[in-house]
Amino acid sequence: MTRAPRIVVLAGGVGGSRFVLGVRGALRARGIADTASALTVVVNTGDDLWLSGVRLQPDVDSITYALAGVNDTERGWGRQGDTERVNHELQQWGAGWPWFTLGDLDLGTHLARTGWLREGLTPTHVLERMSHRWPLGARLLPMTDSEVDTIVVLGDGTRLHFQEWWTRHRATLAPVAFENPGVAASTPAPGVVEAIADADVVLLAPSNPVVSIGPILAVPGVRDALRATSAPVVGVSPIIGGKVVRGMADVCLAAIGVETSAAAVAELYGARADGGLLDAWLIAEEDEQLAAEVSARGIRSLVRPLWMTDATRSAALGEAALAAAGV
Ligand code: GDP
Ligand code: CA
Repeated sequence: MTRAPRIVVLAGGVGGSRFVLGVRGALRARGIADTASALTVVVNTGDDLWLSGVRLQPDVDSITYALAGVNDTERGWGRQGDTERVNHELQQWGAGWPWFTLGDLDLGTHLARTGWLREGLTPTHVLERMSHRWPLGARLLPMTDSEVDTIVVLGDGTRLHFQEWWTRHRATLAPVAFENPGVAASTPAPGVVEAIADADVVLLAPSNPVVSIGPILAVPGVRDALRATSAPVVGVSPIIGGKVVRGMADVCLAAIGVETSAAAVAELYGARADGGLLDAWLIAEEDEQLAAEVSARGIRSLVRPLWMTDATRSAALGEAALAAAGV
């Protein structure tokens, strides 16, 4: 291919941002300087929320900060070198959630975003504006401009906001279902369906299949766009050796009756030839024995190193995902 490939990545926060960095690294290694024209990221906004009057977009911010190189790599979320003075003050007022920390720099982001939303900009336009501060090397699109929530339903019928279940309870309360109020009435953000239709390859990041990729796929029109595109759809397993790498995707998968295995997640997404989404699925070397099972379901399985522990490994994974699609 003489021109740069057009790539669309569907992504959540932490796993999503590492993978997006990897794809950007792979493009740079190919000598493509203008990666922003080649790489579009459709970001999960299902866990966005209002808190103390400001709009939080956890996955959008994780990806933005990571691409800008200002993320806190040790803690895994928020801004490098952030402080918590405002958060302390909010707690003194009894505002917000006592178990939820907002960094000062992070709050600056939320205030800027909320101001622009209040002025009438759509989330797509806000994100476009926020992409100007740092050279991100990718175009970021929210999955939708509508407000969608993620609610966790427990066995006794209790309904918790995803953030309360995740951050306060560390996902220790067994869920029976995840719901996305607002998603059925939502539409894909401008540019999402077009990007998928015009892509040379669509990549499903190794993000949480239930609460990161799941809400994106639940936006009416996205699944159809993925089924209709002529681009190969290639997914990367977030499960390595039967375990989640980080986070609590295993608890989420169990709630929807899916085993924590690379093969079971492939089956959840399904083979494109069989009414599902995937043409190919990258599984870890540790899961090599599952390759035949995945292939038997009509999904080409490729065994590759899936650990994104540094920039080199992440870029190698990005390159492997592009190569799997033949771009
Ligand atoms: P969140 O929105 O911040 O929860 O993050 P994501 O949904 O994007 O990513 C969470 C998923 O990333 C978890 O299920 C992890 O198993 C996966 N993950 C994190 N690091 C790696 C890695 O190095 N390799 C792979 N294959 N998956 C990873
Ligand atoms: Ca998230």
